[in-house]
Amino acid sequence: MHDSSWHRRAVLAAMAALGTQALPRFDAFAASANPFALGVASGDPAADGFVLWTRLVGPAGGYLPPRAVEVRFEVAEDENFRLIARTGIEIACPEAAHSVHVELGGLRPGRTYWYRFHALGATSAVGRTKTVPVDAARLKLAMTSCQHWELGWFGAYRDMIAATPDLIVQVGDYIYEQSYADQPKVRSFGAPDPTDLDGYRARYALYRSDPDLREAHRLFPWLVTWDDHEVLNDYAALANREGLPPETFAPRRAAAYQAYFEHMPIRPSLWRSKPTPRLFRGVDWGELASLSMLDTRQYRSSPACAAPQVARNVKLDHCKERHVSDRSMLGAAQEAWLGRRLQRERRPWTLLAQGVFFAPLALDGTGETVWSDQWDGYPAARNRLTERLGQPSVTNAVVLSGDIHSFWVNDLKHGPASGQRVGTEIVTSALAAQSPPSGRFGDVLANNPHILFSDVQHSGYVLMEVDKQRMHAQLRQIDAKQTGLQTRVLATVEREAGAKDEPAAVVTTR
Ligand code: FE
Ligand code: CA
Repeated sequence: MHDSSWHRRAVLAAMAALGTQALPRFDAFAASANPFALGVASGDPAADGFVLWTRLVGPAGGYLPPRAVEVRFEVAEDENFRLIARTGIEIACPEAAHSVHVELGGLRPGRTYWYRFHALGATSAVGRTKTVPVDAARLKLAMTSCQHWELGWFGAYRDMIAATPDLIVQVGDYIYEQSYADQPKVRSFGAPDPTDLDGYRARYALYRSDPDLREAHRLFPWLVTWDDHEVLNDYAALANREGLPPETFAPRRAAAYQAYFEHMPIRPSLWRSKPTPRLFRGVDWGELASLSMLDTRQYRSSPACAAPQVARNVKLDHCKERHVSDRSMLGAAQEAWLGRRLQRERRPWTLLAQGVFFAPLALDGTGETVWSDQWDGYPAARNRLTERLGQPSVTNAVVLSGDIHSFWVNDLKHGPASGQRVGTEIVTSALAAQSPPSGRFGDVLANNPHILFSDVQHSGYVLMEVDKQRMHAQLRQIDAKQTGLQTRVLATVEREAGAKDEPAAVVTTR
């Protein structure tokens, strides 16, 4: 069974893309290499569909010959493809590095589906995904960030796979563009830092050669947003650490964004306005939870108290400019979109997934020494958002963050420390990267009474479950320098639904 009008449209598009020529064949290629070596993926689920992804590659993950290739996909209700729910044809084009994004609707809610692709005489691995339930009683998600190829193994994904989450949420630093010469490496990029489209594409292809990462994409739908290392460390809109002028940095950023899209299961309908693609979007888990995926890089104001066009994460010491009221982290359009979502919220759980540390993090007793790259560089924007989170429509807000390679649980207030409690922030550590140098955040607990937990020594990820009564999260420590998997729960976080006046309960289990 398939949607014939949809199918016809796809075939017409295919014919248009190919002209009237017969479809090209790469029989010689097909015999020599697996075009599906980068695997398959799914993401951005809805009640009636999701996005399916693959990318065809040549030998050693390189490019195919620059011609359009027909790709057939199948979606089934069973692992053996007896109950076919949908089939169709997409055209993989060289302009998009032969990536394929299939955006599907019209499927049944709350169901597991299996999918696979056929092209060039080969068949992909069978992927598994699911649609969002209409009457969801539970949402289990794994939250991860910061995976540096050279600095650790990605074995944490085996732990995640065993936990069978509904979703994997990646909040940025999916790739690293940068090699750290002074850090001990477990493997090498084998290439210089990417600065153009070929370089960024090759970096993603290298990442997908990791079997644990590929398997996590094959088995679960992902929701992704980026942080800085997908382009260049610490960049802010078009300001950048190298002080490159916009006419130089904008094409580099556009290349990095394009490579990101080409390798991620993101809805192509969001991506039409490149080179300034829209990544912020909402995914709602039935009537249980809303999930807003935020973009905290593309639209942010230039760093305060910095030279023009320069963005570096530095300690700001009594920088008055950071408090200027029109400074923005999300940009006007995203902020308005999020505001509307929060105003209309009716679900018990409001989850905001985004790149950087949200709560204030004072590095000394004055409260005016802070790191510039996180929301502390944009306190007026943070204040506007905490005000929104304080509305009655939002009953349980949880901000999910990454970036700083350490675990944190923060009590979120609107305004001063004595202000209204508006939610909880959970910051996941790096999945695989170096820990921050000791002392980087000062005497955290003495200077920040709203910080409920902090561990700056371990890597890992966060496993979180919400139902109508409560949220339960585990901060799971996994040593990325080891190939074996030894998991330890550093702390658990609990919150009761509707208990907006109560802080989260954190139990340290170290
Ligand atoms: Fe990072
Ligand atoms: Ca980062």
